[in-house]
Amino acid sequence: MERILVTGGAGFLGSHLCERLLAQGHDVLCVDNFFTGTKSNIAHLLMQPRFELLRHDVTFPLYVEVDRIYNLACPASPIHYQFDPVQTTKTSVHGAINMLGLAKRVKAKILQASTSEVYGDPEVHPQPESYWGRVNPVGARSCYDEGKRCAETLFFDYWRQHRLRIKVVRIFNTYGPRMHQNDGRVVSNFIVQALKGNDITIYGDGMQTRCFCYVDDLVEAMVRVMDTADEFTGPINIGNPVEFTMLQLAELVLSLSGSKSKLVFKPLPSDDPRQRQPDISLAEKVIGWSPTIELRQGLERTIRYFEDRIIAS
Ligand code: NAD
Ligand code: UDP
Ligand code: UDP
Repeated sequence: MERILVTGGAGFLGSHLCERLLAQGHDVLCVDNFFTGTKSNIAHLLMQPRFELLRHDVTFPLYVEVDRIYNLACPASPIHYQFDPVQTTKTSVHGAINMLGLAKRVKAKILQASTSEVYGDPEVHPQPESYWGRVNPVGARSCYDEGKRCAETLFFDYWRQHRLRIKVVRIFNTYGPRMHQNDGRVVSNFIVQALKGNDITIYGDGMQTRCFCYVDDLVEAMVRVMDTADEFTGPINIGNPVEFTMLQLAELVLSLSGSKSKLVFKPLPSDDPRQRQPDISLAEKVIGWSPTIELRQGLERTIRYFEDRIIAS
């Protein structure tokens, strides 16, 4: 049994991770400032004696005693991270410094939730970890992309300079229950639009691609990466390599939800990557992991979650 800190633990991925770590018998300290996370995501955990919730902003120092840290605190959807871009960079950079400082003091092992956005709009396809990326440093997405890149730099400098035990995980698009209804991400947007009978908004021509990983697969991979030998630092890609166009995704959501919504085409946001697909050979080799939940199956579960919420609201 370990004492584990999960920053951003009240968010979409964080809440599933807290649940999983509690089920493994660990003590879990969930730290969140509720910028995009909600108490309802973790309400079912509050009665568990091994679960503790702390409202705290990771851009400020945090003094606690823990054995492991999963650093997930950061808004992840473009609408939310562009709402206050300076705060987004602060959360990634100052948040990483504080959590690394904490890990250094208490000699904790620390995992960073990085992102496929570090590859920007890639000219290498699929993206292996060795690819350095093509990121616009001055665009609307830069606060997130460059913040996450700088956080990776800090992790590797603390590893080189202070011999910290680090793990850097590059997460590709992940979906599932507890995604925010209004965060503008494509899976939640299409499902909510389909369930409400509203138009499905396709940005651009809908031929851009993404790969979608179901949350349970992602959490399994994160836990396995944390358990790797100290010599293994990553970065390591985690995602589902099966690629879909946004048009294919829209059609699948329509057929699974039985919706009659129409497709409408809207302008493509700036710096929107054309293609994105993880090369997961490192994950297959190091943690023996590949996704087990197909898009159709994961979408069915996610649609059920949103159906319940839309009926309840
Ligand atoms: P989310 O927005 O649901 O979760 C982020 C959590 O961090 C929220 O609970 C939010 O309140 C909290 N937070 C934000 N700023 C904070 C601060 N300054 N101090 C404390 N808490 C703060 O998003 P998510 O999808 O669960 O993403 C979790 C992590 O995974 C993020 O770091 C994100 O960059 C990364 N990630 C997610 C995806 C994805 O597809 N979901 C893909 C790549 C990377
Ligand atoms: N820090 C923290 N909790 C701790 C230890 C450090 O939040 O338990 C913060 C501290 O405020 C500092 C940052 O982590 O700003 C980096 O710490 P480090 O020891 O690496 O650097 P220094 O304190 O020497 O600047
Ligand atoms: N997208 C879309 N309609 C929407 C929301 C998003 O066509 O209602 C597109 C978006 O332009 C992008 C893809 O879906 O090409 C994935 O967008 P998301 O914001 O989910 O993730 P990211 O761009 O960060 O991969």
